[in-house]
Formats: sequence, structure tokens, C-alpha cells
Amino acid sequence: MNQQRTLVGGSGQPPVGLATSAGHLLQLLRSSAEGYSRSALLEITGMARSTLYERLDALFAAGLVYESIPLRSQRGRPPRALRFDDRKKLVLGIEIGHTHAGIHLLSLGRKILASTRLPIDIKQPQEIVISNVIADALRLLDGEQPVGAGVGLPAPVDPLHRLGLERTVLAHWDLQRLQEVMEAKLDCPVLLENDARSMAVGEVLDPLESIVAVKVSTGVGSGIIVRGALVRGAHGAAGDIGHVRIPEAAGRRCRCGRDGCLAAVASGRALLADPRFAHYGTLRQLTDGYGSDPVLRAAVAEAGRVLGRTLAATVGTLNPGRIAVGGLVGVLPEFLSACRQQILSDAFEPSLVDLEIVPADSRTATAIGLCKLVEESLYAPERIEQLLAQRAG
Ligand SMILES: [Zn+2]
Repeated sequence: MNQQRTLVGGSGQPPVGLATSAGHLLQLLRSSAEGYSRSALLEITGMARSTLYERLDALFAAGLVYESIPLRSQRGRPPRALRFDDRKKLVLGIEIGHTHAGIHLLSLGRKILASTRLPIDIKQPQEIVISNVIADALRLLDGEQPVGAGVGLPAPVDPLHRLGLERTVLAHWDLQRLQEVMEAKLDCPVLLENDARSMAVGEVLDPLESIVAVKVSTGVGSGIIVRGALVRGAHGAAGDIGHVRIPEAAGRRCRCGRDGCLAAVASGRALLADPRFAHYGTLRQLTDGYGSDPVLRAAVAEAGRVLGRTLAATVGTLNPGRIAVGGLVGVLPEFLSACRQQILSDAFEPSLVDLEIVPADSRTATAIGLCKLVEESLYAPERIEQLLAQRAG
């Protein structure tokens, strides 16, 4: 059940009373950038000194904890802080889009160290797409070994059941196989997640905030976080708003095969399919050229307005504190402005109090979100317990 809801960045408070296992002790240490002294850990956890030291020894031996230099000088011998050892640990964040893949190398501390971008065609067999992505990822790693990799995909992703790919852009992909191949080639655990959901995790500033992140590129999707908990839904399709039927799209054929989906009017694919804008050829050329094309600017604004109508329902349902709109189309000023106006006009006032509607940090949010998710997964208390048991056994 726990895997349906992932805490993002912890609760912000030390989990007093839970830090009895080595795994929970590490979780406590991960929650603080400054770390804790031994005496602070004894006080917070209420553990017996001998038990605490035994658990810490196991974490030291596994390279998960280190003693940092004291930050402040004190009279006498200053206490050394124990910190989660995130040094020299690398994570790959891979964003698979419809026409491009972004590959990022990050430190576990979520700093982007290097990035590359390659053209792909998601309609091709996954073996072809992924072998190109892996080749570029290995080039970026340049012989370094990552501790884990996160892959953001433009489709519902259910980490438990792997259901729901029918009628999506990844209908011909096999995510189980994708994960196995990537783990073998990259020689590290690989986590798969929906791209907009990864972006939402990357947009979180306060561990307990409620946000909706919307990605509008070729397609449309959203990621939802409620008081720090990532919402995946029963089968991983939470936030998949692109295929909600709306009156404005009546009679318009969507990629999914149905008529009248939101994505059939408010998406990069819909704009490119419009005969007036077909000459742009690619979405990037369209977004690059839109500033000097008033007809296109009006169409972009209309797409933003239509998305705003759907998001007003989301606002009424979830009462988020912030909506971050990203993606190649989502960050266009006319799109965001029309989207914001429509939300403010349609949603009920109590759900609009203090609501921020802002551009997402499209360049980095998904990669940072994937890095956070990889860390949460790799260093989850139960996984640490398993690791330490294997080392002891
Ligand atoms: Zn559809």
C-alpha cells in the first residue's frame, strides 16, 4: 500500500519513534542537510546508546553515513555531525518525450552535472529508442557508475502493476522489459515514472505542499502532490488529464483514437496538426517561431484557455497551493496567461485563495524530480534493512 504513495523529501520532521531500525535512522539523517550529532540522535530517537552505535556502525560500514567537520566552533571538543553520505553518488535522470530524450547526470544532492539531448521517435520499437538513449547515457557517464537511474515516460506508469499502456503513446512498449534492459546495460537500479509526475516532484519546494504540475508539450499530462504525497492513483493514471472529453474538442480526433479529448485541442500535437501551422514542421520550430506569428499566438492562447477550464475542475477537487505549468507549449506566455485567467474565472473562490499559477522550471524540474524519486526508492528504510542483512549474512 505504501508504494502507492511516496513521501517526497520526507515529512520535514524527524520521524521520532520510528528511528529504531538502521533504515529509519538513515531516513532521519537524510532529512537534515546538516546531519545530527550522536547525542542529538540519542535524544531524538530515545534509543539505547549501544543499539544506536551498533546501527550506526552498520551504516558506516555500508558507506551510507559519514562524519562531517563541525560547522560551528564551541568550547571544548565540538560534536561531529553524522550525515547521509551522498558524496560522489551519481544518478541518471532520463526524460523520454515524443520526439526527444533529455539525459541528465546529477549528483545525489540534485545538482545537474551534465546533460545531453537526442532526437527520438517514440513510435519506433522501444529497442531502437532505448539503445540510442543508453548509448548517450553511457557517453555522459564517461566510465562513472551511477547508483540509480530514473526514467520519465509520457504515459501512465504504474510501478506495481504496469497496467494501462493500451491506447497510450507507449502502447507498443513493454515497461517490464524496458526496466530489465536498462538495469542490465546501466548496471544499476532503474525506476520508471510518468514524466509530469516526475516534474511535479521536481517542483516541490516545501515538503508538505500541495501542487499540480502540468506538462504541455506534444501531449498533455499532469502530476499531483497532496501535502507531500505523490498521487499515482489506483493504477498509475492519476493526473492523466489529456484524454478528458471537453465540449471545445467535439468532433476533433485525438491520437488515442477517440473524439473530443482535451489533447485534441490543447497540445503541441494539436497545434502542429492545424493546417495553418503545418509549415512549422516540428514543435520546437513552432514554439521558436510563435513570437512573430499573431495567428499562432491566438491559437496558443486558446489552447491555454481550454486547458484552464479542465484545470479549474482539478483546483476544485484538490485545492492545490500552486500550479506549475511546463513543457514546450506550457511555458509560452500567452498560453500560461490564458490558462491562468480561465482557472481564476471558472474555479470557486475558496479553492483559489493564495493559489499560485506559475511557469514550471521546465529545463530541470523533471530531472530533479527523477533524482529525488530514485533517492527515495534506493534509500527507503526497508531497502536499507535488506541491504544490511545481505551484508551481514
Ligand atoms: Zn485522447
